[in-house]
Amino acid sequence: MDFKLSPEQRLFRDTVRAFTEGEIRPVARAMESSGAYPEQIVEKMRQMGLFGLTVPDEFGGMAADLVSYAIAFEEISRGWMGVAGILGSHTLSCWMIARYGTADQKREHLPDLATGARQTGIALTEPAAGTDLQGIETVARAVGGDYVITGRKMWITNARHADPLPVLVKTDTRALPPHRGMSVLLVPARTPGFDVVRDLPKLGYHGPETCEVVLDEVRVPRAALLGGEEGRGLQQVLSALEIGRINIAARAVGVAQEAYAEALRYAGQREAFGQPIGNFQAVQLKLADMATKIQAARLLTYWAADLRDNSGRDNSGRDNSGRNNSGRDDGGRADMETSMAKVFASEVAVECALAAMQVHGAYGYSREFTVERLYRDAPLMAIGEGTNDILRTVIARALISGRGKID
Ligand SMILES: Cc1cc2nc3c(=O)[nH]c(=O)nc-3n(C[C@H](O)[C@H](O)[C@H](O)COP(=O)(O)OP(=O)(O)OC[C@H]3O[C@@H](n4cnc5c(N)ncnc54)[C@H](O)[C@@H]3O)c2cc1C
Repeated sequence: MDFKLSPEQRLFRDTVRAFTEGEIRPVARAMESSGAYPEQIVEKMRQMGLFGLTVPDEFGGMAADLVSYAIAFEEISRGWMGVAGILGSHTLSCWMIARYGTADQKREHLPDLATGARQTGIALTEPAAGTDLQGIETVARAVGGDYVITGRKMWITNARHADPLPVLVKTDTRALPPHRGMSVLLVPARTPGFDVVRDLPKLGYHGPETCEVVLDEVRVPRAALLGGEEGRGLQQVLSALEIGRINIAARAVGVAQEAYAEALRYAGQREAFGQPIGNFQAVQLKLADMATKIQAARLLTYWAADLRDNSGRDNSGRDNSGRNNSGRDDGGRADMETSMAKVFASEVAVECALAAMQVHGAYGYSREFTVERLYRDAPLMAIGEGTNDILRTVIARALISGRGKID
């Protein structure tokens, strides 16, 4: 058993850490409160090859192992989680296209996505369906050699920058179970009828845009069908969401680490009753709990990432609750482990952000201190890529079925 990062992983961590320290941290507060898209930082990430994290090297990507992938998200999130969000659904969809795309789709999209010349995202959620993805209402009709898509997607990160945007649709509305009629279509930006109608106002997670998207008779060629086969869409996105859970867990570790670092620093500076507040046991207990939980979250995240990297099995036909239509789990790669990491790390992030705010007293509530941003950003990790409640049911089903084991 080896708890150490490899020399390559350490070097990669140091490189991303230096980037965060030099390019993100100094501008994070001002840029985050301006609400502007951080184009300069994105350009640096392009130059560093980070848009190619999950793209195979034959298409010009970095083909990073998933522990290194987690490290990138953790380190960037220490400076500003929103910036990591720009890479989140991009890298998830690159992974999905590389894994499931046809040879033509890979050739057409992956080289540009690897360099960041084009970006992507993923459009699953709708106004009336998030957890219950089999309940989506976006429909793609086959018309001649094309598909014509009609529907509405909600909460779509990177929607204004995505080209293509993978969209989960129903290609057969009568299929039973419904997932057999679900497919992913790669929709190019600027296709007529594809309209990003509004940016959704958010508590935090400023940086990437999160939008409502209308698809009104959007016509795409048959070649836009991911993998070239209808009825595989839910399997494709659920598989990719495991990669997403790793990046969400890692972002949570980064936010929690930053909250702890801010609390530790402040505890040594702020004085009350003639001494640093770090001398008081109440503050010490908070710091000890934060550090212990962060380390546990980090190890759980790296463990899940490593397992996901080394598991080759596939699953099919489950909704966002991890259940197939027959109501039983049907095996999986690391859905239990990635869910454990995501649930635990996100809750550690929420706890640490609140504890750091408490250590700061009134200043923790001020827009002039970093901890208020951490407090606004942390809860997103408990929602995205499967809510923590639904992921707990994924974990429980795996355990009860005997498929998931912790020994
Ligand atoms: C900032 C932000 C960015 C996002 N980016 C994207 C994106 O890029 N692409 C995308 O497709 N989506 C995106 N999402 C959407 C996100 O993935 C969904 O919000 C999430 O999947 C939950 O869906 P919902 O909001 O519809 O909640 P619902 O599914 O309506 O759930 C509401 C509550 O009910 C609970 N619940 C639902 N079903 C069950 C059940 N069976 N058992 C127990 N509890 C249940 C949930 O846990 C939750 O607490 C984003 C969301 C946010 C906030």
